[in-house]
Amino acid sequence: MSYGARKKCLGILSSAIASRLFLEHYRYMVKLYESHDRMFVESLKAALTGEGIQHIVKDESSSSLGEVPPIVTCQRVWILQDSELERAQSLVRQLESQVALTTQQSWTCPDCNESLEAQFTACWNCGYEREA
Ligand SMILES: [Zn+2]
Repeated sequence: MSYGARKKCLGILSSAIASRLFLEHYRYMVKLYESHDRMFVESLKAALTGEGIQHIVKDESSSSLGEVPPIVTCQRVWILQDSELERAQSLVRQLESQVALTTQQSWTCPDCNESLEAQFTACWNCGYEREA
């Protein structure tokens, strides 16, 4: 066997092993989360990494026409081990409740400039009532 042919042969062999390993490895992959919200996916990735949960994120573009604005592209987060799904799901719930809290906007009183938490409908400092 010539050197070239042998090299080619080894190349094919190693890619076959690699794809086999890939399949073995990803057999237990489960989809954890799907979102258009890149910020959320970013924080989810950070949380998963922090917990040592192996994961991958895939961009799912529904368009084959080329450029898709990033906001439209859906991202899917996959967990590599289904045994870690429960832990990962509780991270998702934690993050979701954090997001729910921060989306309730705090506000600033136009009369006295006091900054107020979202749950207050009136300024405790001067009594200004926020419009609904
Ligand atoms: Zn005020």
